[in-house]
Amino acid sequence: MSSPFRPVCRHGLHCIIPPYLLDCLSNCTDVTAEVDINAWLTKTRSQSNKLRSLRMGYHPGPPLPGAVSTATQGKTRNIYDAQNLGSSRLPGKLVRSEGQPPAEPADPAVNEAYDYSGITYDFYAQVFSRNSLDGAGMALVSSVHVGKNLNNAFWTGEQMAYGDGDGKLFTRFTKSLDVVGHELSHGVITYTADLVYQNESGALNEHFADVLGMLTRQWHTQTDAASADWLVGKDIMGPAAKARSLRTFKADKAYDNDPYFGTDPQPKHLRDQYKGTDDNGGVHINSGIPNHAFYLFATALKGNAWETAGQAWYDTLLQLKSDAQFTDMVQATDRTVVARHGSGGAVHQALTAAWKAVGF
Ligand SMILES: [Zn+2]
Repeated sequence: MSSPFRPVCRHGLHCIIPPYLLDCLSNCTDVTAEVDINAWLTKTRSQSNKLRSLRMGYHPGPPLPGAVSTATQGKTRNIYDAQNLGSSRLPGKLVRSEGQPPAEPADPAVNEAYDYSGITYDFYAQVFSRNSLDGAGMALVSSVHVGKNLNNAFWTGEQMAYGDGDGKLFTRFTKSLDVVGHELSHGVITYTADLVYQNESGALNEHFADVLGMLTRQWHTQTDAASADWLVGKDIMGPAAKARSLRTFKADKAYDNDPYFGTDPQPKHLRDQYKGTDDNGGVHINSGIPNHAFYLFATALKGNAWETAGQAWYDTLLQLKSDAQFTDMVQATDRTVVARHGSGGAVHQALTAAWKAVGF
């Protein structure tokens, strides 16, 4: 965290790879023989900054083709191929629309973006009775092959954008259902609490995206809380990566003294909260605190995390204000749990114990 902060994912762009990972990689000069980190970094930063510029210039601009929201639409997916061009060409060429068969010749990125955005839609529809990101059937727009070997995925505020990864540290970013679910959940957050992407409210924004992305994968694979791995992004790690994932909800670290990624900076207790200004005030860092509380709550309840625990968090997301702080989150989850399960019962006690374990 001592390296100079070079913003990559500020403001309207919500990236799965946080800026501190890019900073760490830039210092790993001893490993460039194996992976050309500096070339990778320069390219990733430059492309990410271009995407940021695009987003910053969008006030409000014309709607994207296929992104127009109507109250009558159900599941509607449009997948575009950005053809490795810069973000100025987003969304790119339409290659697969709702109901069309898989792309020919087979393009895994196109088909994964289609399948996983569909699973995410189904998760919200079936578990929370929510019709798409805006609750009103908004079409899900995804662009794949964004940039050249780009090691990132973004929610731009209007659509998803996926890089192909460099094939070394990261593989294509459509490969992970929890990454797709995370990024689309940023859309849901935008249309609900719209948490300000800075400091604690920003960490809550990242937290909800992590929780809802994780629950999308657990729901799809029908994995209960006790059996789940609780690892964010494990399916995008490339063959040269030593880290097993980007983040973990559990108490341990996703990576420790890693030659490429350094050490996972996420705290799992309030006393270790990051107070600096990097990463928009630690939005991808301090999210580790509520993430761990959610994990403790869900595993204490046993069964499937998307049921009681997931419903409590979704209820809370609908109630929070955009400037919510951690204590607002704790109080709001308390209210939603008491409303559904009563005060002092097993669910309420598990919630209180989970927050207490992380310092509240
Ligand atoms: Zn995010």
